[in-house]
Amino acid sequence: MEKNGNPPPYAWNNGYMQPPTAAPPSYSQAVGGVGPSSPYTPQYPPTAGPQIVTTVVPLGPHATHMICPSCHGEIDSATKKKPGVIAYIAGSLICLLGFFCGCCLIPCCIDSCMDVHHKCPNCGAYLGRYRR
Ligand SMILES: [Zn+2]
Repeated sequence: MEKNGNPPPYAWNNGYMQPPTAAPPSYSQAVGGVGPSSPYTPQYPPTAGPQIVTTVVPLGPHATHMICPSCHGEIDSATKKKPGVIAYIAGSLICLLGFFCGCCLIPCCIDSCMDVHHKCPNCGAYLGRYRR
């Protein structure tokens, strides 16, 4: 009975066993030191769109000398007084308080309660209103 003196080493032959994989880097190795490069973030310059230059003339209670944005003419705005929101509120308040016989129309006649609407006398464009 023949007996193998040296049994083949079990599973230690090259080719059967995979070489031991490299140990994963420790946390300090992976994170410490130079960190991973930051993801590429494209830097867009602030978008400078076409600048819209508008000459805003503060509209007063009277005719205002300005340049019409519609016909670009140098005009004195035509004003028209209309009762503003305050006039309607005051009028309805007076109605609620019991002042009838036309008293509620008083605020519509008070100058300080009127909105002044500006229009261009040349082209009739609405320029805005002056609100009390
Ligand atoms: Zn105009």
